[in-house]
Amino acid sequence: MRTLLTLSAMLLLGFALPAVAEGKLEILLSQNASKTESETGRLLVNLVFRNTGDRPIEFPSSYVPPEDGGKLGLNLLSVKSGNSIADYQGLHVRNISGSGSRAILGPGESLERTVDLSQSYLIAPNRSYSISVRPLLRFKDAISAEPSSVRSSDAEAKAATSNTIEVISGAVGSGAGLHRADTLDSAQHPCSQAQNDSISEAILNAGDLSLQAVKYTQSLLKYASPGYTFDQTARYTKWYGAYGDPNNFSSPNGMINGRIAWRLNVNAIRLGKIQGKLPNPPVLSTTCNCEASGAVNPATTIAWVNPSAPYQINICPNFFSLPAIGNSMASDSKAGTILHEISHFNDGYTAGTDDFGDPDQPVSEAKFMAANGRDLAADNAYNIEFYSENLEADQ
Ligand SMILES: [Zn+2]
Repeated sequence: MRTLLTLSAMLLLGFALPAVAEGKLEILLSQNASKTESETGRLLVNLVFRNTGDRPIEFPSSYVPPEDGGKLGLNLLSVKSGNSIADYQGLHVRNISGSGSRAILGPGESLERTVDLSQSYLIAPNRSYSISVRPLLRFKDAISAEPSSVRSSDAEAKAATSNTIEVISGAVGSGAGLHRADTLDSAQHPCSQAQNDSISEAILNAGDLSLQAVKYTQSLLKYASPGYTFDQTARYTKWYGAYGDPNNFSSPNGMINGRIAWRLNVNAIRLGKIQGKLPNPPVLSTTCNCEASGAVNPATTIAWVNPSAPYQINICPNFFSLPAIGNSMASDSKAGTILHEISHFNDGYTAGTDDFGDPDQPVSEAKFMAANGRDLAADNAYNIEFYSENLEADQ
């Protein structure tokens, strides 16, 4: 009662009320100097996920690196040396939408992990690297700090904040990170004949969709003297946002348009639908290996890849129960998985796409990026997947 009276008194007197309680996610990076074992080729960085606000928060558990310090399952960090970005060679793990667990942090609580950068990024020796957390890691206020607390999906997602650190790689980068246990021989994890048939059909469907997406996108850009016009359709807007001035190729927006078109083209090259120009043409291979050193949970995973091991897609049992092609009722699909995974690889055409946003809500997150950060949409595997499928059958 006393509190109520005090509040009323404050309101009557026109006092400002204290700010509404809210959670805040800060991710603090620091070099793990004591454990930088240059002789063993490791480059260790500590990450602390801390709720510095005064309400519990929740976010996808997949944002938190594995406890064993092994390969990342998500390209969490930006690792740059000067202007060059270190290739990601951790894993991209695709889970069934909505199947992921959530991490919950009460006010003041934190989670700490150590990441060996040399396991997940192509690190050269004796170089200075600038490390930061990648954009679009978002969290929400949770209803309570109980693990059972209802997912606060209506709450507004807010961006995490982070710092940037500079590290020197020492003797790291002896090539130890490449072609390790996760680039398994497909012969060791054969698929059954029925599974192979199902995968082959998905690859054919994905190839057709990738070529249609290239042709469709080209058809939107028309030349009529004195310049180009762009037909800004609902489909393009939904997954890739506003095209902007089609005659200004060198503006930031124009460069993004070029990147989107190029990624669509590369997907069609990798799926054998457009002639490529690399000395070694893409040879897609698939395994039914659903295990990868703790980073993959077979119960929730559809497929995973190591982007630096092109073009091997590792398929999990969940894949086989998905519909052939995604639609507005079912966003996960067999063809969509292939379109998504094939875009992740690094090769001479392009560095692979990433998985941005909350993997439990990939459709709404892809739309959010198209509207609010189309540079991210251009590089997000879910955007190329949903756009190529024309997931919601837009014109
Ligand atoms: Zn992915």
